[in-house]
Amino acid sequence: MTLTVKPIAILDDNYAWFLRDEATGMTAVMDAAVVEPIADFIAAEGGRLDWLLITHHHGDHIAGIAELAARTGAKVAGNAADARRLPKLDVAVKPGDLFQFGKSEARIIDTPGHTRGHISWYFANGEALFCGDTLFAAGCGRLLEGNAEEMYASLAKLAVLPDETRVYCGHEYTLSNVRFALSVEPENLPLQAFGELAKSLREKGEPTLPTTLATEHAINPFLHARDVAHFAAMRSAKDSFR
Ligand code: ZN
Ligand code: FE
Repeated sequence: MTLTVKPIAILDDNYAWFLRDEATGMTAVMDAAVVEPIADFIAAEGGRLDWLLITHHHGDHIAGIAELAARTGAKVAGNAADARRLPKLDVAVKPGDLFQFGKSEARIIDTPGHTRGHISWYFANGEALFCGDTLFAAGCGRLLEGNAEEMYASLAKLAVLPDETRVYCGHEYTLSNVRFALSVEPENLPLQAFGELAKSLREKGEPTLPTTLATEHAINPFLHARDVAHFAAMRSAKDSFR
């Protein structure tokens, strides 16, 4: 394993993710939406910040980037197709690109649905998937710009990655996702067990993430949708679920 990943819990329920390529010491933060907590975290990790990486343009994923880049000199990388609504990019990536991060390498996957320009960053051999607001533990992102067809296709692209892939999502939405998932699949035993585990982690103030694709295949009702229409119905049911 060459990539170390740590959560930085920010805002109400967001995660910025700290990455370090252990072979070279290169570091990055995915979705740096705030300044001080992330600057403090970087200082505690030795003060090095090479990259600020972006999944999508929402403020709760990018609002700290310009300031952090100015302070640290870190370079910014995000989707070329969304450049006009992202902070100034030093490297504009495209779906299919390989992004070199020290001795690690991420493949850029186009995952529209939550937003039109949403991308995911996949580090090979299942080491890590940063999927922003596309796939969540036991859930998926809202369709804010894209449609059900796009999100269904995006989730399908992520679902074929290796089972052992560790999935680093943009939010701590797990408990509310589990409540909805159990309303769809009340008899799902792995889902019930996952819900209990998630609850005890949250009671201790710990993240429920990362999840893995193997876990998500077992527990995530959105990955069990038969077709786009089934997925669309489930997604709109979740939108109004209380
Ligand atoms: Zn978002
Ligand atoms: Fe978000």
